[in-house]
Amino acid sequence: MDTMQTTGLDTEAIRQAKIELAATCRWAARLGFQSGVCNHFSTAVPGRPDLMLINPEGYFWSEVTVSSLVLATHDGTIISTNGHTVELTAFCIHAPIHRLLPQATAALHTHMHHATAICTRKGGTIAPTYLSSMSFLNSIAYDRGFEGAAVTPAEGERLAGVIGKATILMMENHGPLVIGSTLGEALLRLIYLEDTCKIQILAEAGGAELQHIPPEIIATYPEDSAMFKSYGRVFMKAVIRKLTREEPDFLN
Ligand SMILES: [Zn+2]
Repeated sequence: MDTMQTTGLDTEAIRQAKIELAATCRWAARLGFQSGVCNHFSTAVPGRPDLMLINPEGYFWSEVTVSSLVLATHDGTIISTNGHTVELTAFCIHAPIHRLLPQATAALHTHMHHATAICTRKGGTIAPTYLSSMSFLNSIAYDRGFEGAAVTPAEGERLAGVIGKATILMMENHGPLVIGSTLGEALLRLIYLEDTCKIQILAEAGGAELQHIPPEIIATYPEDSAMFKSYGRVFMKAVIRKLTREEPDFLN
């Protein structure tokens, strides 16, 4: 690699981004959001939007540490890895999203069961019924064009086009992808998404009619509200505080 790619990559902002990404992996592991050792979380690198950080191939999220994260370019060139690699589908989905959607500082993809269950319904949609979903109900994109596993950047580019201005992508026959302007915001949205889908499935299980929230009430909770972004920062601080106490090796 040339020196231009590696110069200036030891900043405090980048160190903090690594801590937040490792913490995001650990927290999502606690919540049971991972399937096998698959699925990926990534973040754009502060000051270097041409680069991204992503979790290493072949590891449980519960094993991820600051130093195990992989730093790479959008075309798949690995800048630093500590010997780790990145799965092909991660590059094919995450890199084009970071490259084409500047608002996607963070991109989190899981096959968490309740949100994925909605994705496997024919024409499945998220019903506007739950308080904690109000911040994203007007910001969900549905991909109805399942083309199998993403093995080319063209598939990620197609998905970025489907996301557009949304913050949640529900991929038919696949699972959800959430973006955010910070990792804390994206992780919080991911948790609220899974809660929302679980509650919807439980509420529908007995055949009961859902009580929809009126659109004019939803409109009072814009997705990009300062309140939600602020709460995302507070949430990430709490996650890091608790992990530092209970799983301090994530900082290694
Ligand atoms: Zn997937």
